[in-house]
Amino acid sequence: MERSQSPSYRPVHRTNLQRTAFWQRLPKDLQEVLEISSLVFPFRTNNFVVERLIDWERIPEDPIFQLTFPQPGMLAERDFLMLREAWRQGIPGRVSELVREIRLRMNPHPAGQLTHNVPVFRGKLLEGVQHKYRETVLYFPAQGQTCHAYCTYCFRWPQFVGVPGMKFQAPQACELRDYLMEHPEVTDVLLTGGDPLIMRTSILERHLEPLLDPALARLQTIRIGTKAISYWPFRFLTDPDADALLRLFERIISSGRHLAVMAHFSHPVELAPEEVRAAIARIRSTGAQIRVQAPLVRHVNDNPQAWSELWQQSVWLGMVPYYMFVERNTGPKRYFRIPLVQAFRIYRSAYRSVSGLARTVRGPSMSAFPGKIQIVGVAEVQTERVFVLRFLQGRNPDWVGRPFFAQYDPDAYWLDDLRPAFGLERFFFESGAGDPVKSTSTSAVSRLQ
Ligand SMILES: *Cc1c(COP(=O)(O)O)cnc(C)c1O
Ligand code: SF4
Repeated sequence: MERSQSPSYRPVHRTNLQRTAFWQRLPKDLQEVLEISSLVFPFRTNNFVVERLIDWERIPEDPIFQLTFPQPGMLAERDFLMLREAWRQGIPGRVSELVREIRLRMNPHPAGQLTHNVPVFRGKLLEGVQHKYRETVLYFPAQGQTCHAYCTYCFRWPQFVGVPGMKFQAPQACELRDYLMEHPEVTDVLLTGGDPLIMRTSILERHLEPLLDPALARLQTIRIGTKAISYWPFRFLTDPDADALLRLFERIISSGRHLAVMAHFSHPVELAPEEVRAAIARIRSTGAQIRVQAPLVRHVNDNPQAWSELWQQSVWLGMVPYYMFVERNTGPKRYFRIPLVQAFRIYRSAYRSVSGLARTVRGPSMSAFPGKIQIVGVAEVQTERVFVLRFLQGRNPDWVGRPFFAQYDPDAYWLDDLRPAFGLERFFFESGAGDPVKSTSTSAVSRLQ
């Protein structure tokens, strides 16, 4: 990439939407729908996404348009009509009152998501850190809680719109280091957000340097979760601190650690631009490995071709397919969710059609309260049709890899829709043994994440 080609980041959001080049090309009704839906949902995209990833000839079906522009179907019809009425009448107080009401009703965060799994250290909660699975600690740097563009289905949206009590507290990198000193079972720290690579390199350094301390001998891997390769590849190419970022990656690796960039790619069209490919090549040239993961989302990537192409091209570009997630049951889920049985069909159909090198991917996986649960298949046992499931990650490490069964249900979307098969009253992990929360019912278990 030539420096002279370096574009600057230009966000597109509610207030400058009408000044963008594509606005005039949208039909009038779509303009209104966008203005109304973006009152409720956080809306932010940018010049790269708009100019390079979206095919404006294919609106509204285009997958990246669906992924970044709020869609009318995300609101219940009644809410949409009420809001449109208030909007057309131009009553600002009424509009904001309705927006607040609708947001709260969508129950954006399952209860406890922000407080659960937060470890206690030296008598107080270690805010901005989650330690759920033995080996891996999640770290949410305060300045990394936003993104270069927002995904419409994202369950983290309360963080973006500032719903009170829905934001993480600022964590301290040095406190995290001290915590890790006392937790040698932790081999991985995963920086997440939002998108940690929204941070300037100098700030990212402040969060990462304490973790490179040689005294942290057991810390083997730094992972960084990001969608910046897709939404803003210039972060790795031509941004003023792009080179400094790559030097930081090299420093992590020369500290003797593995650096895993957990890249979020939802659709193969995101891999097409030459800037994205150049960013991938630059990241890999530091010695970092890129792993690819995304949720299965209706209207965005709910077909096997999208996934098989995504995985094959990932391998071709030197990246490792990692997880396919089931869309969480939060936020505007009705528009985006897919029944588990259909998620499994899409997964299997894509998985079957790629070479073994792309079959490093695991899914469809639900990140639910007890753990990450994979739908392994649908089977007939005696005369009963069942889902075969297993833990890829467990709140209790003993659960990992253990198959279990649920009654087949074509209308199940999430763990809390499932009932144990063979007339059992509970799933094995609900017995209370080893479960720190001693949950009783499935729905109580999986409402939490
Ligand atoms: C997914 C996840 C991890 C990482 O799990 P891996 O299977 O190691 O990728 C860690 N913590 C939480 C809370 C997670 O949801
Ligand atoms: S990039 Fe990730 S955190 Fe940001 S909006 Fe998309 S899914 Fe949410």
